Amino acid sequence: MESGDGWVVRVRPRGSRLTAAQAAAVADAAEAQGNGVIELTGRANLQLRGVTPDSHAPLIAALRAHDLIDADIDAERRRNILVTPFADAATDALAAALEAALAASGLMLPAKFGFAVDAGPLPVLTRDPADIRIERGPQGLTLRADGMATTSPLHDVTDALVLAQWFLDQGGAPGGRGRMAALIAQGARPPGADLPAPATAPAAQPGATGQGMLAALEFGQVPPDTLRRLSRLGPLRLTPWRMLLVQGAHSMPDLPGVILDGADPRLRLRACPGAPACPQAHAATRPLARDLAGLVPPGAVLHVSGCAKGCGWPRPADLTLTATPAGFDLIRHGRAADPAVLRGLHPDQLPRVL
Ligand code: SF4
Repeated sequence: MESGDGWVVRVRPRGSRLTAAQAAAVADAAEAQGNGVIELTGRANLQLRGVTPDSHAPLIAALRAHDLIDADIDAERRRNILVTPFADAATDALAAALEAALAASGLMLPAKFGFAVDAGPLPVLTRDPADIRIERGPQGLTLRADGMATTSPLHDVTDALVLAQWFLDQGGAPGGRGRMAALIAQGARPPGADLPAPATAPAAQPGATGQGMLAALEFGQVPPDTLRRLSRLGPLRLTPWRMLLVQGAHSMPDLPGVILDGADPRLRLRACPGAPACPQAHAATRPLARDLAGLVPPGAVLHVSGCAKGCGWPRPADLTLTATPAGFDLIRHGRAADPAVLRGLHPDQLPRVL
């Protein structure tokens, strides 16, 4: 994709996992062929920014050499699978089986249509985007269409493909677009979904977990050298929560960009790279966001955007500051390009305004 700071290249590691060699390859590629920015996405993928027409081919070659790109672009597009970071070996095997079945299926699903393999003791991905969810209930593995409060037993991963085909047959993707929850909201009901859905686990917090250390990343970005150093502590699992799980780690040193305290106000911040990294930016974003972090109440989100494109947080935020040539615009409960309630603010005014 093109963006204000060059091309964005999205990398979809298999099973939401990265080996140490893969992590090092991504870090090296981000520095050599991008602008050094590695983002964690809301679908547990990675994005490298600042790629140019000249650096794209060597980047793809480097990623391919580490099995981070599929040979077949359609197969890669279809394997849109979130996997719980707390997966055991059986869950990993289930995700791999689903990936293989999807690759062989030929299903033509909408680009954003995705699956969640969330088969730990309690589901942890229910707040994250997925259209078909494999979870675990008292009776064993279950299959749930997003938007449904009930599930059906899962006998085999092909059941998930049958549900995806049902979505298409019901007209869920007119013009190649559509999501399961929208179809369910229209009253469609998949057959056999008569078990209650399992309860959801509380939102994961940074720090120690039973499976390793959850490292939250400031601004959802991992500096290349931090990625290398994290990967030396244990295998990495990607999450859709702007965090990486370092499997088996019980502690970790202070690393640039890593947050281990769930009360850290920096977790309330969103910001694109801003100036000087992005030529489209009208101002620096991150230093300002850090300065304002203490004014953001717990549970709220402050988004500071270098321009109206809003690359750093495409969703609405409680407060958004969008840089313009005339100063900062303040948007409440909106995106970077939404109508502002105050315009042309000088950075010195912002603490009082917030
Ligand atoms: S939102 Fe930020 S990164 Fe995106 S184009 Fe604007 S200044 Fe650049």
